[in-house]
Amino acid sequence: MPAAAMSRGPAEPGRDCALCPRLESFRQEWRRREPAWFNSPVPSFGPPTARLLIVGLAPGLQGANRTGRPFTGDHAGVLLYETLSRFGFANGSYGARPDDGLELVDARITNAVRCVPPENKPTGAEIATCRSFLKTAIAEMPRLRAMVALGRIAHDSVTAALAARRSDAPFAHGASHAIGKLRLFDSYHCSRYNTNTGVLTPDMFRSVFARVREFLEAS
Ligand code: URA
Repeated sequence: MPAAAMSRGPAEPGRDCALCPRLESFRQEWRRREPAWFNSPVPSFGPPTARLLIVGLAPGLQGANRTGRPFTGDHAGVLLYETLSRFGFANGSYGARPDDGLELVDARITNAVRCVPPENKPTGAEIATCRSFLKTAIAEMPRLRAMVALGRIAHDSVTAALAARRSDAPFAHGASHAIGKLRLFDSYHCSRYNTNTGVLTPDMFRSVFARVREFLEAS
């Protein structure tokens, strides 16, 4: 094994990860309240051999935190998985549950923060702590060429993970940035709030993935 690989931390936190005390106690509270829910750090979904990595913010309480698969079971997942299917990044139909048989094709999804945060708002310290898993997840994708950051927090965590200067790669919906051998595409997050208020329309979201597809076809 190469030395760089040996020095990497794990790509996935353990089920009882205690690195963020606030998130750990929130998780414990929800384990008591809803013992049948997943209530653990949500692992990445999709093959590590993929060329595309999509980075969300953090599991939704009743979505990924309940089901154990990123963006599964909440509003944001409906547009995300529909868009991935449309551009050939998913096979099967999304049934809002982890046993729906949906498979990602040449794409993987992870979150900047793996545990559900109270009120959907991770702190700066939590984002920084969880970045070690993001870094390893990126390093473990040997064919990675493109990333999509869903929202500014994901964008900032990805650029920090890639050691890019923030001023060289400022977040803007529809922007893309060359960072080393990767290209980072930015989108507003496909949250219920953004889609209900028209900040993000399905067409705006699809055009980001159309450009990703074009980029991957050309590279
Ligand atoms: N579900 C996730 O897994 N991540 C998000 O960012 C939002 C919902």
